Amino acid sequence: MIADVLVIGAGPAALAIASELVSRGLEVHGLSAQDPAEPWRNTYGIWGREVDRLGLGGLLGHRWSDSLSYFNDQPLRHGLDYGLFDRTKLQNHWLAICAAGAMVWHQGQAIALDHGRQVSTLATACGQQLQARLVVDASGHQPVFVQRPDQGPVAGQAAYGVVGRFSAPPVESGQFVLMDYRSDHLGEGEDQAGAPTFLYAMDLGDGLFFAEETSLALAPPVPFEVLKDRLHRRLAHGGIRVEQVEHEEFCLFPMNLPLPDLSQQVVGFGGAASMVHPASGYMVGSLLRRAPALAAAIAQGLADPALTSPAVAAMAWQALWPLELRRKHALYCFGLEKLMRYPSAQLRQFFATFFALPQEQWYGFLTNTLNLPELVVAMLRLFATAPWGVRWGLMQQQGRELALLGKLLNP
Ligand SMILES: Cc1cc2nc3c(=O)[nH]c(=O)nc-3n(C[C@H](O)[C@H](O)[C@H](O)COP(=O)(O)OP(=O)(O)OC[C@H]3O[C@@H](n4cnc5c(N)ncnc54)[C@H](O)[C@@H]3O)c2cc1C
Repeated sequence: MIADVLVIGAGPAALAIASELVSRGLEVHGLSAQDPAEPWRNTYGIWGREVDRLGLGGLLGHRWSDSLSYFNDQPLRHGLDYGLFDRTKLQNHWLAICAAGAMVWHQGQAIALDHGRQVSTLATACGQQLQARLVVDASGHQPVFVQRPDQGPVAGQAAYGVVGRFSAPPVESGQFVLMDYRSDHLGEGEDQAGAPTFLYAMDLGDGLFFAEETSLALAPPVPFEVLKDRLHRRLAHGGIRVEQVEHEEFCLFPMNLPLPDLSQQVVGFGGAASMVHPASGYMVGSLLRRAPALAAAIAQGLADPALTSPAVAAMAWQALWPLELRRKHALYCFGLEKLMRYPSAQLRQFFATFFALPQEQWYGFLTNTLNLPELVVAMLRLFATAPWGVRWGLMQQQGRELALLGKLLNP
C-alpha cells in the first residue's frame, strides 16, 4: 500500500505536520519509534500572544502575566504573557486531528530510505517496508535521513532544571522569570571568565516551582554538572534549598544548525529541518505557524500527476524555507555568533538594550514574525541604542562571522 506521505517521528514536529496533511485530505502514515501517544518529557514554553494568534490559548497549562527578566539589579518587566503548554493537551490536540483524518501509525525505527521517481521505500529495523510518494523526516535534531552541510561547530542550548518544592520560593508568587542573569553568587573571576548562564524560573502553583539554570548557546555546550552546580549555588545565595524534586530536566539541543540541503528528496520538518530559532532556541510556535504552508505545498504537488516525487519535494522545501526565511536564519545565526562572544557584563547590557526595544520589535525578533526589512530595522535600532561596549562587539568581525553575514545575500 502506497501512502501519499509517510511522516517519521511522533514529536511536536511530526504531529504538527501530520495533522495539517490529513486536514488536506491526504493519506498519511506515521512511523514512530514508540507509541505516538507516549507522553512527551520536555516542557514547552511559548509567548501567550503566539498561541492566542493561532487560537490555541486553551492548550496552555500555565500562563503568567507577571513576566520579567533581570539584567542588572532592577527587574525588567516584559509586559507580555508567557505560557507553558499542557503537553498532554497539545499532543492530544494533534493526535485527534490525525485520528479524524484516518492516519495510520506504524511502530518501528527507520533505518534506510530508497528513493524512486514516484515512490520512496523506507525500511525499519525489524524489516518492515513502508512506501509513500513523499517522506517527511521529523525525527528531531539529529535526523535519521535529512542531510545538511557541515559548517563548523554547532552551539548547544544546555539547561539543568528542577520541578519541585523549595525551602523558600525561588521566584515571587505568580511570577515567570525569563532570564535572571544576576551573578552575585559567582566569584568575580568566574563571572567574567566562565560561560554566562541565567535562571529561567516560574511559579507552577500549589507550592511547586520550576527553576532551571540555562546557557543560551555555546559550542561545545556548558556541561550539565556546571549548570547543576550553578543552580544550587544561585539558590543557596538566596538562602533557598531544594526540598523535593518532582522532575529533573536535562535540556540540550542544537541552536544554529545549518539549513538542510533543499534539493534532497526527503523533506524535513522541525528539529530535522533546522527550524529552532537560532537566537532564542524556541521552535513550537514556528511549527504551528509554518506547518500549513508546507502541507499546502505538498498537497498541491501530490495533486499533480505529472510531478515526480523529487519535484514535489523541491516544492515542499521551497515552501518551508523560502528565500526570506533563509535570509533571516542567516541573520539570526550571525547574531548568535556575536552573543556567544560577549563576556557576561556585555551580554547583560546587550539584553537590557534588546528588551528596551519597542515590544513589537523584540517580540517579533524572538518569534521570527518580523519580515526581513523589519528585522533589519530592529537590529539597527538595537545597534544605535546599545552602549559602546556592546556596539564595539557588534562591529568587530571575528571567526566565521563575515561568512555568516554573507549568507544574508546568498543563503
Ligand atoms: C528539554 C527541552 C526543552 C525544550 N523547551 C522548548 C520550549 O520551551 N519551547 C520551544 O519552542 N522549544 C523547546 N525546545 C526545542 C524544541 O522545540 C524541542 O527539541 C522539540 O522537541 C523538537 O521537536 P521535534 O519533533 O523536531 O523532535 P523530537 O521532539 O526530538 O521528536 C523526534 C521524534 O522522532 C522519533 N524518531 C527519532 N528517530 C527515529 C527513527 N529512526 N525512526 C522512527 N522514529 C524516530 C522520536 O522517537 C520522536 O518521536 C526544547 C528542547 C528540549 C530538549
